[in-house]
Amino acid sequence: MLRNGLYIVATPIGNLQDISARAAEILRDADIIACEDSRVSKKLFALLGISINKKFISYEDHSEEQKAQMIIDLINQGNSIALISDAGSPLISDPGYKLVRLCREQNIYVTAVPGACAVITALQLSGLPTNRFMFAGFIPNKEKARTDLFEELKNINTTLVFYETAPRLLKTLDKASEIFGNREIAVARELTKMFEEVVYGNFEDITAHFTQNEPRGEFVLIITPPQEKKSSADDIKEILRKRLCETSLKTAVKEISAEYKLPKNDVYAMALELKDE
Ligand code: SAM
Repeated sequence: MLRNGLYIVATPIGNLQDISARAAEILRDADIIACEDSRVSKKLFALLGISINKKFISYEDHSEEQKAQMIIDLINQGNSIALISDAGSPLISDPGYKLVRLCREQNIYVTAVPGACAVITALQLSGLPTNRFMFAGFIPNKEKARTDLFEELKNINTTLVFYETAPRLLKTLDKASEIFGNREIAVARELTKMFEEVVYGNFEDITAHFTQNEPRGEFVLIITPPQEKKSSADDIKEILRKRLCETSLKTAVKEISAEYKLPKNDVYAMALELKDE
């Protein structure tokens, strides 16, 4: 018997056997299952051999705010509720965050049953640096939003991880290559499933691969951090000279000190020298 509260339960992202013993037990014992699509969840229960003879309530992105309080009311009435997504870890590009926040505010018991998550699995298989990474969710579909996001992230010194869909992959690679330039990337698809594949290389290699092999299934895109640019004082001066023709002194100093990881004061002093010349 479970105490009343919210149980955030991870389910497999492809391989049924990735369900943990604790997750299966909680799904079996919870009074109510809060899920995205009850048809998908009932199918999972059937495959796991767990009875579907309990209440399934929908908890989707667009209904998150209204439904959260309703779920808390059910918990306060004594119910244990397991929150699951269609696949993987709830709250990771899936609904749930507002519900957990509300539970915290109202002192409701919350626990998590960790398990499969595409971000982590892809990162583990990517061969790219894992010491520091940023998960940036789904890449926006609209051209401008996609460009703005890539521009915002291009100078951040971490590995970047994104979710992407098959029909958009080639378009995304094209834009990413334009903005991120010659970086190492990995594209992981169909993780833990029969056609699991991880393709490594630069944008050109990966684009060639997926031009020859039509993208199919679910995708994670991983981009390595920017290389630290090492340059002599003369190189920096040359770059500054060019940049000062294009933009203000303040912007040039800000951009170059960020790009080359140099103290702003040093770059500023060089810029002043050049201005005097
Ligand atoms: N919450 C899930 C998790 O823990 O990974 C992610 C849900 S999100 C709505 C679905 C996206 O996750 C897919 O479009 C894909 O980008 C990624 N994804 C999920 N399963 C995957 C798999 N088996 N292989 C590769 N990517 C996957």
